[in-house]
Amino acid sequence: MRRGELFLLTAPSGTGKDTLIDRVLTGEAGRDGALWHSISYTTRQPRSDEVNGEHYYFVDRKTFEAMTSKGEFLEWADYNDNYYGTSVREVVPRLERGIDVILDIEVQGAQQILEKRPESHGILVLPPSYEALRERLQRRGEDDDSQIAERLAVSLWEIERYELFGYAIINDDLDLAVLALTAIILEKRLRRDRQVHRIETILQGFRSAARGE
Ligand code: 5GP
Repeated sequence: MRRGELFLLTAPSGTGKDTLIDRVLTGEAGRDGALWHSISYTTRQPRSDEVNGEHYYFVDRKTFEAMTSKGEFLEWADYNDNYYGTSVREVVPRLERGIDVILDIEVQGAQQILEKRPESHGILVLPPSYEALRERLQRRGEDDDSQIAERLAVSLWEIERYELFGYAIINDDLDLAVLALTAIILEKRLRRDRQVHRIETILQGFRSAARGE
């Protein structure tokens, strides 16, 4: 069986990444469980609406560090004074079963995976402009002015690294962004080498019919 594809989605905070991923998972690309959104480990505290094992696996620093030393992470990063990591177990068995996996990770993690697994697909989601992102963060009302300034500074650092990513989606229209991410995923599935098994089965049917079986 052909292995699944690994998609790395990186997006500055406030670019609408969570909604984008949810829409793609429940749409055409996620049909029949063909796409898995990997659940990361983190040492940060859960937000009020977050559920352990659904949004993240929330663990303490000791547990995270023990997992690191046992080599249980495909990648991990120290971001905003917290650890975030993708466990091997969450991703590799699914890829081996032919399921596509999407990781929602920051730049350092995406860079580690692209070095280790250059066949994976890096996708950067960008806001249409600096002003648009600043307005979105202000409208969201989660952060004060200094936190917003900090997020915008981190976004600059992330966008400056855009050349790491093979794909870019500028999210100025959510419907279009959903279509774009779906298109990237479906394009990989339409590769001939990923469909050899199905094509061969169809071909066998034609050959049997031609032989009058
Ligand atoms: P938040 O705390 O807002 O959920 O996430 C903060 C940042 O960490 C986001 O950019 C998110 O994409 C990233 N992130 C989430 N999980 C992982 C992970 O497993 N590895 C890495 N490197 N980054 C992650």
